[in-house]
Amino acid sequence: MQYRDLGKTGKKASIIGFGAEYLDRKPYERVEEVINRVLEQGINMMDLFMPGSEVRRNIGQALGSRRKQIQIQGAIGSVDLKEQYDISRDLDTCKRYFESLLTDLGTDYIDFGMFFFMDTEEALRQIIDNGIVAYAQELKKQGVIHHIGATSHNAHVARQMVEMGLLETLMFSVNPAFDMNAGDVSIDGLMDSLEDRRLEGVSPERAALYLACEQRGVGITTMKTLGAGKLLSKATSPFKDALTVGQCIHYALTRPAIASVMLGYSTAAEVDEACRYLTLTDEEKDYGNVAHAAPGLMHGACVYCNHCQPCPVSINIASVNRYRDIARLDLANIPPSIVQHYNSLVAKGGECIACGSCEERCPFGVEIINNMADAAEIFGA
Ligand code: SF4
Ligand code: SF4
Repeated sequence: MQYRDLGKTGKKASIIGFGAEYLDRKPYERVEEVINRVLEQGINMMDLFMPGSEVRRNIGQALGSRRKQIQIQGAIGSVDLKEQYDISRDLDTCKRYFESLLTDLGTDYIDFGMFFFMDTEEALRQIIDNGIVAYAQELKKQGVIHHIGATSHNAHVARQMVEMGLLETLMFSVNPAFDMNAGDVSIDGLMDSLEDRRLEGVSPERAALYLACEQRGVGITTMKTLGAGKLLSKATSPFKDALTVGQCIHYALTRPAIASVMLGYSTAAEVDEACRYLTLTDEEKDYGNVAHAAPGLMHGACVYCNHCQPCPVSINIASVNRYRDIARLDLANIPPSIVQHYNSLVAKGGECIACGSCEERCPFGVEIINNMADAAEIFGA
């Protein structure tokens, strides 16, 4: 397994994570099979939003004395009042379900307390006005949760939360098809657009969210990385070409700030299939075909895919572009960490000799030579 820093939390996250949803309503033996394989593979991130007691108890029992081997994202506001998944912004209801999560799991802490399904400004107002933010902050003070986060599918609302300083981590829906839709559509809209193949070009709002998270040290974990499986089939992929699981994972892991891709598993074999990503070659992970399949839609914006390498003067072009893009979010306040990262690159933008070979290789039509010069001007090297 490989591990990445989860923003500024001080925690390391396995790049392959685990969304536990598919364990819902499964017999205990199956839950144990999946949990065992997850831990054997070194996966240390689990998202557990399900409000039902039975699946939570099964997971707690399967973890047993191994609780500390996994970091749990637990939802604040996920309920099943009408015997189906629902969302509550009522403080007492949120408390009741969150406290029962601890009891069901048989633990006295949750690593990441996540405001659940934060897709609207109304939801943001409600968690503040109803005391749910204050509740999470109090839990953190008591050590019951270690960090505060949120789950969201809406780039506009997610960025608001990040800029307010509410979050230390964010779980966000990330895949190349979603990234080509407007940032403020709902999850239903995103899934609909996959079916209808209405791609609109790279969403500046979504790109800016990832950069803002990196800028502020908010680590992202992902959901919907395979587009509910639709990206894996030629018939349902909006790119007119099937992507592989490895390509989808790689796409997510090459966005700024992303630490862990949370995939759902209902068998041990599916855990192994996801972890096969760790053994793929660069060619197998390359997702350049999405650009060829959607000509024009992803034109001009760097997606940090590294397709342009090698550079004769050893510039890591994707990294230079990424630090430049983050700096351009707010040129007057470039985070010192970003300046430090840029300065520690082996070769900087200013060393570009304008040979142009990278631009020939870039499937996304990025004006790399101009970007290198721009980075040199911004960072002074
Ligand atoms: S410049 Fe092009 S090829 Fe290079 S990382 Fe960016 S998008 Fe990929
Ligand atoms: S144009 Fe500049 S960045 Fe691109 S390969 Fe040549 S030297 Fe490297």
